[in-house]
Amino acid sequence: MAEYEYETHDYDVVVVGAGGAGLRATLGMAEQGLRTACVTKVFPTRSHTVAAQGGIAASLSNMGPDHWQWHMYDTVKGSDWLGDTDAMEYLAREAPKAVYELEHYGVPFSRTEEGKIYQRPFGGHTTEFGEGPAVQRTCAAADRTGHAILHTLYGQSLKQKAEFYIEYFAIDLLMSDDGACTGVVCWKLDDGTMHVFNAKTVVLATGGYGRAYFSATSAHTCTGDGGGMVARAGLPLQDMEFVQFHPTGIYGAGCLITEGARGEGGYLTNSEGERFMERYAPQYKDLAPRDYVSRSMTMEIREGRGVGKDGDHIHLNLSHLPPEALNLRLPGISESAKIFAGVDVTKEPIPVLPTVHYNMGGIPTNYWGEVLNPTKDDPNAIVPGLMAVGEAGCASVHGANRLGSNSLIDLVVFGRAAAIRAGKVVDKEGAVPATNKAGVEKAFERFDTLRNAKGGTPTAELRLDMQKTMQADAAVFRTSKTMAEGLEKMKAIAAKLDDLHVTDRSLVWNTDLMETLELTNLMPNAMATIAGAEARHESRGAHAHEDYEKRDDENWRVHTIARVDGAKVDLSYRPIVEAPLTTEDQGGISLKKIAPKERTF
Ligand SMILES: Cc1cc2nc3c(=O)[nH]c(=O)nc-3n(C[C@H](O)[C@H](O)[C@H](O)COP(=O)(O)OP(=O)(O)OC[C@H]3O[C@@H](n4cnc5c(N)ncnc54)[C@H](O)[C@@H]3O)c2cc1C
Repeated sequence: MAEYEYETHDYDVVVVGAGGAGLRATLGMAEQGLRTACVTKVFPTRSHTVAAQGGIAASLSNMGPDHWQWHMYDTVKGSDWLGDTDAMEYLAREAPKAVYELEHYGVPFSRTEEGKIYQRPFGGHTTEFGEGPAVQRTCAAADRTGHAILHTLYGQSLKQKAEFYIEYFAIDLLMSDDGACTGVVCWKLDDGTMHVFNAKTVVLATGGYGRAYFSATSAHTCTGDGGGMVARAGLPLQDMEFVQFHPTGIYGAGCLITEGARGEGGYLTNSEGERFMERYAPQYKDLAPRDYVSRSMTMEIREGRGVGKDGDHIHLNLSHLPPEALNLRLPGISESAKIFAGVDVTKEPIPVLPTVHYNMGGIPTNYWGEVLNPTKDDPNAIVPGLMAVGEAGCASVHGANRLGSNSLIDLVVFGRAAAIRAGKVVDKEGAVPATNKAGVEKAFERFDTLRNAKGGTPTAELRLDMQKTMQADAAVFRTSKTMAEGLEKMKAIAAKLDDLHVTDRSLVWNTDLMETLELTNLMPNAMATIAGAEARHESRGAHAHEDYEKRDDENWRVHTIARVDGAKVDLSYRPIVEAPLTTEDQGGISLKKIAPKERTF
């Protein structure tokens, strides 16, 4: 038996994660009068949201006509018709409100001459249901939008008296016998003490799992811990095969150059100096969605038109833009290009390559953020006491491909929605669930086994094997052969979790153990990704299958539901939600407008 003493904490709501989604949920929960704790493994303002550059989408119409219906249409088309219609409508409709709330909370947005929030064009955001020109819909605070949002939300959460548990690592969920979530077990990193949080509702806002790949724009902390905890609780993950490659990661370093760079007039060229996007996407060119641009770049490289001595990357040109504009609108990326590529953007192009950036898949939820555990009889069955928001969740608004600037808005719209929902369903007067002692014991057993792991495989070695396999075999383009091989390799890699070796056995600031816990979370995310990809015999959004080049709506317009247990992945499918929340008569969008069609730009 693993003997660990622990302290208990009782709350109405415990939010795990203090990125944009976690903080917006925390703030909203506290505003609803719920006793709220926010647990986070890094200091709130160091969450990956801080790195978001380009901006946050909302149809404010500050820089030309726009409508939420146009935003919804673009999101549906961007998702390659795999998103849930109710959630996509909710996102587009609530977006302006959520952004004005941010403004009133104090986010220092860039401004137009008249003092309105500045908005820039972003890939896939258009007018007139995809018939008109690109729209300026992406609200920005220069190229540091995430930074501005995170700092504001943290300040506001403190003002609402939400309680923060900073540098606490959530290990596992506590689940009751009848399948409800009743709390979470945490390890305090700086003094090694253990903590059990009992709560009426737990909200997972743990972010993405970009670090399952070798080259990613995401922070090293993006290890899919929420997905790992959910998988261990016997709950499923959804649509994990859809991984977004951002067209412009800096070659070699992987750091991001925001799509805002192309929004402000930047463009891509090949070794012949050609603006090749004009060929692939005659209407929107460099501002086609990310899956489209990443594939076009990869095709140019494959056909021998890559730049550099190995012909293995592409150029992003900004030097034709006025230096004042670069300084005002893109100061952060000018600095990144200098530091990470040694390039002066006013004079030279930036070397770039498609780089893993975002996970469309995650923990399945409805548009209130309530976690789903689909059954045969009820594809929308909810897990009582458990919510998921932000990149960790899958509502699903991004379907098979997310539009740029639609994630930051997803964080705040659904963080807010979860709080509104909890305000209605959480019984403030009711008792907090009692500590599930058997659940706590089980979490400690796992923790203790890893802490004392004496196998032959160091954590860093196994992680690298996983990252390289995912990078090679679940890439921008995929074939039956590479994915089948990748799946077999990944099964062998996942099985090696039983042979880990941890060197440091202490409890205080033991990064060896923390990274090991993170690896046990990355692995089920990665397994669901490659297994889901191998099984999906079509091409849709970010899943470009070379043996099945066409989208197949008849058989595959369904969400993948993956239940992962070690190296085993059990796949089933759940219908997408087709019905919008409002009809055309009620001011909504007609189903005919958003019916599937070929996706061209
Ligand atoms: C470089 C970059 C630029 C981007 N730019 C944009 C952009 O301009 N516009 C846009 O819309 N999107 C952008 N995105 C995407 C968007 O920023 C992310 O999807 C989003 O910020 C994720 O927010 P989140 O709140 O879900 O998670 P995160 O911000 O990743 O936060 C996760 C939180 O969970 C906590 N956590 C995780 N695991 C545990 C655990 N085990 N125990 C305790 N706490 C835990 C962490 O401490 C952290 O607080 C960008 C992404 C990147 C990587």
